[in-house]
Amino acid sequence: MRVAMIGTGYVGLVSGACFSDFGHEVVCVDKDRGKIDRLLDGVMPIYEPGLDSLVASNVEAGRLSFITDLKEAVPGVDAVFIAVGTPSRRGDGHADLSYVYAAAEEIAHALDGYTVIVTKSTVPVGTGAEVEKVIMKARPDLKPGVDFSVASNPEFLREGAAISDFKRPDRVVVGTEDERSREVMAELYRPLYLNETPMVFTSRATSELIKYAANALLATKITFINEMADLCEKVGADVQQVAKGIGLDNRIGKKFLHAGPGYGGSCFPKDTLALTKTAHDYGSPVRIVDAVVEANDKRKKSMAGRIIETMGGSAEGKTVAILGLTFKPNTDDMRDSPSIDIINMLQDAGARIRAHDPEGIEEAKKVLKDVTYCDGPYHAIEGADAAVIVTEWDAYRALDLSRMKEMMKEPVLVDLRNVYRPEKVREAGFTYRSIGRA
Ligand code: NAD
Repeated sequence: MRVAMIGTGYVGLVSGACFSDFGHEVVCVDKDRGKIDRLLDGVMPIYEPGLDSLVASNVEAGRLSFITDLKEAVPGVDAVFIAVGTPSRRGDGHADLSYVYAAAEEIAHALDGYTVIVTKSTVPVGTGAEVEKVIMKARPDLKPGVDFSVASNPEFLREGAAISDFKRPDRVVVGTEDERSREVMAELYRPLYLNETPMVFTSRATSELIKYAANALLATKITFINEMADLCEKVGADVQQVAKGIGLDNRIGKKFLHAGPGYGGSCFPKDTLALTKTAHDYGSPVRIVDAVVEANDKRKKSMAGRIIETMGGSAEGKTVAILGLTFKPNTDDMRDSPSIDIINMLQDAGARIRAHDPEGIEEAKKVLKDVTYCDGPYHAIEGADAAVIVTEWDAYRALDLSRMKEMMKEPVLVDLRNVYRPEKVREAGFTYRSIGRA
């Protein structure tokens, strides 16, 4: 089949490369010429494990190409995926759909035969219907269900494991109102039938809501264990044991029960907020998610205080080494990363920041000021009054504590990901603080 992917970011590029690897012919479109030029030179615009070789082999096989001009990409394809950003709208927190609608209008002008237009971006309930209206307005000559269909196909991949998530997903959700587009979508995902991936065909509105409900529930699980961690600290319990003790119950499950500095990233913060806005608009508030959003914001802002407290109550004139900047390991994505609030607040309190991240430094430079970036974790901790593990990259899992102690001004380790065993770190002579462990 032939596919056009509009938006060549984390989702569009991975989805496009994986569809081409399934054997489809895919053209990836992006307005950002720099991104397309880099891809044409074989350079990945993002860090995602395994992506460079997947892209290279499919480009070489002639199934994957890159272009800036949507008008050239759309004619003749079976499906056009909209995979552009849907960030939080400034001021009110609703999803900003301007990129989605702009892409839909451009697609409309390029349509030349029956095509399924698929929203892969995370979009609020009703967006598919709105996209259909945008297309009909731009092209009054076209009839939905006859000349084109609009389907919803939310993406559930995780950055850092995006390729395996796309190729071996827990499920594929497709929201469509007509049989013809259902057949196109089933054919596109047919290669997944081999691994018996469940296909959930549903209405467009249901599909749109599934994506937000999934992210909100995962964010709730994280926030729940984070609040349990705070309680553990007060009562002298251990949150990791609590997580294990509840997670072994199959009804609860082990995943997403790791206490930490609060969730960040390009999806959970904006999607939880957008869901609460939609729910309030429809007069059906999701109070649990309201509370999750508020608790997580407060949590991210409270982490700097925890670090300052561990340093003895003041950050003035001190040097803090930040280990890990991205919102999670194995990505270069800095969007809404907890490190941003932590660093800004430590700087406001008078601290100097030295930081290391295996992949995120270039993105970090765009959002942080006055940070000294270092080549490795030991370089970052040199002369520091405290080291803080913000992201649990493998590079920080087996640090040589005695070497660290010699290099630091003060042996203080704040472990916001519970990577280390408290007794071991204290034995090594450190003042140690982690999350939810006495
Ligand atoms: P991104 O910012 O990495 O990429 C979006 C790309 O779209 C950018 O390169 C931008 O230049 C391009 N673009 C915007 N308008 C365009 C247009 N009219 N024509 C061509 N290109 C255009 O975003 P992302 O992280 O890939 O997210 C995309 C969508 O997928 C969002 O709705 C997001 O919520 C959702 N999503 C993201 C993830 C994730 O892990 N990043 C996972 C699941 C779903």
